[in-house]
Amino acid sequence: MIIYKNITKIYPSRTVALNNVSFSVNKGEFVSIVGKSGAGKTTLLKLLLAEEKPTKGKVFFDNYNIHRIRSSLLCHFRCNIGTVFQDLKLLPTKTVYENVAYIMEIMGANKKEISRDVPQVLNIVGLLDKSRSFPRELSGGEQQRTVFARALIHRPKVIIADEPAGNLGPYHTHDIIELLLKVHKIGTTVILATHDKGIINSLGKRVITLEEGKIIRDEKKGRFIL
Ligand code: ADP
Repeated sequence: MIIYKNITKIYPSRTVALNNVSFSVNKGEFVSIVGKSGAGKTTLLKLLLAEEKPTKGKVFFDNYNIHRIRSSLLCHFRCNIGTVFQDLKLLPTKTVYENVAYIMEIMGANKKEISRDVPQVLNIVGLLDKSRSFPRELSGGEQQRTVFARALIHRPKVIIADEPAGNLGPYHTHDIIELLLKVHKIGTTVILATHDKGIINSLGKRVITLEEGKIIRDEKKGRFIL
């Protein structure tokens, strides 16, 4: 489903963020990308979103070279991917419900579709009773679950999460990982990037370890060893 083929990414600052990285992710897999800060994890995810271009190599999504997709089609393509990133980007003047509905409005959904789908995803992330709350009235974990709800609204094929637990405490971290496992169970492919050893070692799933832009390990039931 997703193929990274001989990817090298050198930023204009001459930093080599990724150095000849190749791997693939099958439909329905749960893959963790681990490594120290600066290892290249975020760059790897940004390449999949076409937010960055590779210096060398290709990234394929469902057989499309994503850096060759016309910009007019890119938006449609990105709907296949839900993102849960650390910078929350919730709209402070909108409620939880509106923060999720807004995404559907942008994509041209009508009122009926919005009132059908938003409660559904809020239910999945356990926030139905907070629909009318504003971001400032939510805990860090609840804010992150709102971000999660937004990521799910297009029923994406893939969820990519970059340090989704961020600065949350262990309780909320567990919460977010439970959500990732839940969406994985219903068939969503999950790519999780983190430097948190505790999370990874409890998962028992595939782990790709990056070090200075290179894959140094790719294990089916991996642990975080650095
Ligand atoms: P990680 O997510 O593992 O912390 P990143 O992919 O963010 O790693 O960064 C990999 C390397 O690329 C780091 O050395 C970082 O400083 C550098 N880097 C990341 N983004 C940029 C950028 N936009 N411009 C220049 N260098 C960058």
